[in-house]
Amino acid sequence: MSRRRTIVVVEDEDAIRRAIVDALRACGHEPVEAADGELGLTEARRSGVDLVLLDLLLPRKDGFDVLSELRQTHPSLPVIILTARGSEDDRVRGLRGGADDYVVKPFSARELLARVDAVLRRSPERVAPPVRICGSEATVDCARREVCRNSGERVALSEMEANILERLAAHAGRAVSREELLACVWGLRDGHVETRAIDMHITRLRQKLAGDATDAPDEWIVTVRGKGYMLGPKLNVVTDVESASEENGS
Ligand code: CA
Repeated sequence: MSRRRTIVVVEDEDAIRRAIVDALRACGHEPVEAADGELGLTEARRSGVDLVLLDLLLPRKDGFDVLSELRQTHPSLPVIILTARGSEDDRVRGLRGGADDYVVKPFSARELLARVDAVLRRSPERVAPPVRICGSEATVDCARREVCRNSGERVALSEMEANILERLAAHAGRAVSREELLACVWGLRDGHVETRAIDMHITRLRQKLAGDATDAPDEWIVTVRGKGYMLGPKLNVVTDVESASEENGS
């Protein structure tokens, strides 16, 4: 694999979960363990997750419920279902519920890794994080979490602000709801933090991005009434795939 991927492993059977984690780590991936459905959903919603391996029979929250709740906030995060139930019904239900693929237990590490690679390959545009976001007066360097103004001034973004901006960039062209931002940036489900906290972060982020250019407050983040926030349509988002091809001169 060319790039290290963060993969959430939601599986309650310790021996199986550890075997999967060992296999992923041996391939250079970064596995995150969750032994029940509730924890699995929380981990899957954190920012930076590339793929979820999801068992169906789980304590605290069924795998199907995890999948349907995850799809409400993360419609395109790759999910592979792990099922001991050999029944066709479960596989069809999982795929209809938005899973990208499934593996039937017992499976070999080799088979699982092949599926993981195939699903990640199929969705390169979905997992490519933004490297730079370019506006008329400034550019954001996502790795450094820094706003670089054309004047040469540099402003640091907090981790939270950078995560919000990256989330908006990953879904450029559509509004991202406050609930979705809350779930993916804080890893929280509804009720724990006021959605107003999101608005406060957005206000600070806008100030850092626009600087003194008070005539263009919405260039970076557009408020979509009743829906949430959207990345400014005139910004140019450069992902790691594109920047790699730039470096290769193609
Ligand atoms: Ca299970």
